[in-house]
Amino acid sequence: MLTHLVWLRNDLRIHDNSALYAACRSEGARVLALFIATPGQWQSHDMAPKQAEYIWQNLQSLQQSLAEKGIPLFLQQCDDFDASVTLLQDFCREHRVDRLFYNYQYEVNERQRDAAVERTLFDDEVMVQGFDDSLLLPPGSVLTGSREMYKVFTPFSKAFVKRLKEGLPECVPAPAVRPDGPLSTPDALQPFDYPREAFDDRLFPVGEKAAIARLREFCQQPVTEYPDKRDLPALDGTSRLSACLATGVLSPRQCLHRLLKQHPHGLDDTRVFVWLNELIWREFYRHLMVAFPALCRHQPFIKWTRNVRWREDAALLQAWQQGKTGYPIVDAAMRQLNALGWMHNRLRMITASFLVKDLLIDWRQGERYFISQLIDGDLAANNGGWQWAASTGTDSAPYFRIFNPTTQGERFDLSGEFIRRWVPELSRVPEKYIHQPHEWAKKNQQKLDYPAPIVEHKQARQQTLDAFEAARKQMD
Ligand code: FAD
Repeated sequence: MLTHLVWLRNDLRIHDNSALYAACRSEGARVLALFIATPGQWQSHDMAPKQAEYIWQNLQSLQQSLAEKGIPLFLQQCDDFDASVTLLQDFCREHRVDRLFYNYQYEVNERQRDAAVERTLFDDEVMVQGFDDSLLLPPGSVLTGSREMYKVFTPFSKAFVKRLKEGLPECVPAPAVRPDGPLSTPDALQPFDYPREAFDDRLFPVGEKAAIARLREFCQQPVTEYPDKRDLPALDGTSRLSACLATGVLSPRQCLHRLLKQHPHGLDDTRVFVWLNELIWREFYRHLMVAFPALCRHQPFIKWTRNVRWREDAALLQAWQQGKTGYPIVDAAMRQLNALGWMHNRLRMITASFLVKDLLIDWRQGERYFISQLIDGDLAANNGGWQWAASTGTDSAPYFRIFNPTTQGERFDLSGEFIRRWVPELSRVPEKYIHQPHEWAKKNQQKLDYPAPIVEHKQARQQTLDAFEAARKQMD
């Protein structure tokens, strides 16, 4: 009997899992599944303890679902990706594996590891098969007329939709129960050796069933209201599916098909499409990362921005991280991140802009801090978002377009409902002054236990413009 091994990574599901489906196609084979924890590597990638806990809980749920199909899940641990190559080889030898199946990861370190695995297992005569799985369309399949990767989002999105209209990517079913029948209750998995931190599972669904239920629910009514609500952080107006997508508890194909089942004209319906377009942003940044691998190494897309002279100021960085900048919307947002491991998209843009454009701190410091906190941390989306906000990336707003943190607060949290939720020090401040609380305190001779703004926006803006202009001139 042949033995097939499915190596699970960021595809923690049994439905629409290309590698798992392929491994189970032959009824005659014995199928095993393996997840390798690499704490040293995760540490070097700054993985958030909340994401580690999310992975851990989903592995337990996945072990149960796989066991019901007659597939045992093994969890093993080694320090880093290099060590995982040897671990995998030993595992294959021990279990007499004939074929290995896995879904591609597109980051540089991951691709190097996979190439090493292929070479090593080739020598052992284990056949290795990889699949494009974490995207709607594979990297390199949506190109300009001159067969290059798009560098601007809107034409990419248009070309992407055209491709979808030519033929939708299919979802594959969950595997059938293996002929030998379901296994008895599996032994409990041994937790991996990486700091884990609790998260709120009412906000971030654990296990495929809960993720699919959230997706279904969102694709009914909320998706039609998304265009009106998605920019208002006080409302629960977005799907909160990012952790599921980042760890592969859900696939983007499942999202697409559920959306179109509920709204068959979703590709043309301008309201429903707004949400799908966000999934296309996710694709854009992943396709970009494959086309320009230097992005994985935190290089700016626009080369001259390397010359920007960033400010080194640990106290300012810490004030931003802790939500103590004196700008209410920025502080509320950072506290949401620190408490939940998640931040609303509009606020990610505002806080990123503040760090880079008001504090003139290198965007990579912010990128790193976000990844170290986010339950949905994803290199491509995070890097793309940061480079967009810092005006160093593709599609970035021109560098001279700088968010004003006070007016952003007024536009997107007018009454201050969100701010009051996260910054209780401001609970007494009347609505009219919630975005400039010190003005109210001064007028009314009140004492506020809240920091004064750590920079003056107008001045900071000018300083940033000068720094970018000087960097650009250096290239001339
Ligand atoms: P929804 O609005 O419901 O969107 C649905 C899905 O589309 C999301 O779950 C996500 O997978 C994808 N998506 C939405 N917006 C974007 C976007 N701008 N770029 C790429 N994908 C998108 N997203 C991450 O998944 N991981 C990150 O590490 C991450 N870091 C970010 C950093 C910055 C500075 C910025 C500006 C954005 C970042 N984003 C990141 C994108 C976005 O903020 C989150 O995906 C979104 O807030 C998640 O909430 P949701 O699931 O409710 O999204």
